[in-house]
Amino acid sequence: MSKLYTAKDLEKMVAQGQCLGTLPENAKLTPMARDIIRKHKGKSSSKQPAAPSGQRLSIHSPVLPDAEYNWKPGGDPKTAAELEKFFYSPEIQAIKERICQIGQRIWSKGYVDGNGGNITVRVGDNLVLCTPTLISKGFMTPDDICMVDLDGNQVAGTRPRTSEVNTHLGIMKNEPKAKSCVHAHPVYATAFAVAGVTPPSCLIPEPEVFLGEIGFASYQTPGTPENAAEVGALAKKHQSILMQNHGVICWGKDVEDAYWKMENTDAFCQTVTITMQIGGPKQYSNDKLKELILLRKKLGMPDHRLEELKECELCDPGEYTVHTAPQPSACACHVSAPASDVDEALVQKITDMIMEKLS
Ligand SMILES: [Zn+2]
Repeated sequence: MSKLYTAKDLEKMVAQGQCLGTLPENAKLTPMARDIIRKHKGKSSSKQPAAPSGQRLSIHSPVLPDAEYNWKPGGDPKTAAELEKFFYSPEIQAIKERICQIGQRIWSKGYVDGNGGNITVRVGDNLVLCTPTLISKGFMTPDDICMVDLDGNQVAGTRPRTSEVNTHLGIMKNEPKAKSCVHAHPVYATAFAVAGVTPPSCLIPEPEVFLGEIGFASYQTPGTPENAAEVGALAKKHQSILMQNHGVICWGKDVEDAYWKMENTDAFCQTVTITMQIGGPKQYSNDKLKELILLRKKLGMPDHRLEELKECELCDPGEYTVHTAPQPSACACHVSAPASDVDEALVQKITDMIMEKLS
């Protein structure tokens, strides 16, 4: 005969880190015990007590932690009092902490120097947390973080917001999936941006999957409406954008995700740079790239390449794509340029320039 489980039995199991899912199929439950099972099924993403080591724990199927901030559409705080309350609420304070942590990471990686770089997180239809101007990103505290609307007007915070927030807002206005942006000047990726070069495809699988194709925005004065418009338009197709003669901006679903794109971009550019010293890059085949792009799509990350390009065009045929300056904004996306349009002498010149700097 099957055992009767009371609410106390189940609570004991949970406290010991045991799995409620392992109850026998024909287990008899008291009404209160049934309520507990129902509650557990309803909050599968909630925190569970840690299982004692060696004990099997499978109350729920494994769940990825998700730091994406979701707000109620149309529910932005409006009055000064509401904004103040929201700005200092525990959930917003937690995001400010995360912004500061990412600031420490970009600074300690050497991605920013002086007061360079900036970070934003969207927290409403028309509300965005952002880092202030003239501050080292490695030494911020939550009290330094500001809040702006999507037009860049500051609505909360004691320090003035960064002027470059407009570029972040350009991205957020164009791409609703962009809930956070990180801008920095990591040395290798910025060197590519200064040389006007984007790295080729078909070299390393991870950047193809987690980064997608790197975009390229022609030079505009940082923080200007022109810069915001160009970068914003590119954000629909690219999660990482090299800004010519300036640096890199990446977007993601949360601040860590955006930061990862920055790491991916700079590591990719660094690897390509070093590869040039030991014989130059060798590409893998087109059909393999297609597999990676499909994988990226499966993970829910946007990729325009399958729709826009024929299979034969997926891999850049040349070693590098060179963006000649000045560029009209319509040409900012380099993938549409056929190989024959790339000036080989210019490619060589830029390769030589990078090699010379390295030696
Ligand atoms: Zn900058």
